[in-house]
Amino acid sequence: MELLDGTPVAKRIREKAAAAAGAFSPPPRLVVLLLGSDPASETYVAAKKRAAEEAGIRADTIRLAPGSPPEALLAAVGRANKDRDVDGLLVQMPLEPGHDASRVIDSIDPEKDVDGLHPENVGLLHQGRPRFVPCTPAGILALLDDFGVPLAGRRAVVLGRSGLVGKPLAALLTARDATVTLCHSRTRDLAALCREADLLVAAIGRPGFVTSEFVREGAAVVDVGINRVTSLEEAPRNLASSARIRDAIAAKGRVLVGDVDFDDVSRVAGWMTPVPGGVGPLTVAMLLANTVLAARLRRDREEKAR
Ligand code: NAP
Repeated sequence: MELLDGTPVAKRIREKAAAAAGAFSPPPRLVVLLLGSDPASETYVAAKKRAAEEAGIRADTIRLAPGSPPEALLAAVGRANKDRDVDGLLVQMPLEPGHDASRVIDSIDPEKDVDGLHPENVGLLHQGRPRFVPCTPAGILALLDDFGVPLAGRRAVVLGRSGLVGKPLAALLTARDATVTLCHSRTRDLAALCREADLLVAAIGRPGFVTSEFVREGAAVVDVGINRVTSLEEAPRNLASSARIRDAIAAKGRVLVGDVDFDDVSRVAGWMTPVPGGVGPLTVAMLLANTVLAARLRRDREEKAR
């Protein structure tokens, strides 16, 4: 089994983004809107800001207090849309209850939408002429390409149909001539279907759900899931019996696991991503690439308008 290690691939993409960012004066600028104080969101936003700054991208986090009303968030988006110094804009998800994520995404200027979630960008992607591609699926493609995992003519099964990961990934893989099946919680005979895959991608948010029973010998397996397990009781039985997981929980009181049972699946897979260190680093790297793209598109527009 060849480990699809995302860290060196992400590093190269970040270096490329940094070199491109260095050619802009003033540097590209990213604004992240963070509503509330969800600890996981705080961690993700801090990682994005740090990575952007390392690449020479100016990054500002605009915080809205927990319990801020929808109008306050929409007004903050409106201000960043209008600000001529802002190239890229994203709103950290998930939002607090009472907010309508679609309404917020619709309100983002599609030319600043570096998460690629605005309907205009989703439409362009599905028409095969992508502008901003959502960072996680774009990162998965970059990782597979870097390791030379073949796609054209191959069977790909994507587990999970979210607008953030599963659906855009299915569109990207289709555009690369893979034959794609998109699965979800209502799919029947899931394991048998997955076993047909040359490429299996799991993005469902269920710790250790995908076992060797789902995987054809030699297949490439990409694990998008990031699940925090804090006790053996809450872990599924297959993970709880793993010495590696038991030791990690005993030592730290928590462990990050994917949607794939790594120890089990690594016995049959041909390629496989680790968690952490697989898809995660690529997601951040692609955000930098999208921000540089946003900066370039804006400067091109300004140039044309002159
Ligand atoms: P999501 O919006 O919660 O969607 C989950 C999808 O999985 C849904 O389509 C759901 O089906 C499907 N699903 C749930 N249980 C299933 C089951 N038992 N069998 C088959 N399908 C099932 O999740 P998401 O935002 O795409 O995220 C998925 C995972 O990836 C999470 O662990 C998240 O933390 C992680 N993630 C990681 C990164 C990264 O950078 N590594 C980025 C984004 C997300 P229905 O549609 O039928 O409900």
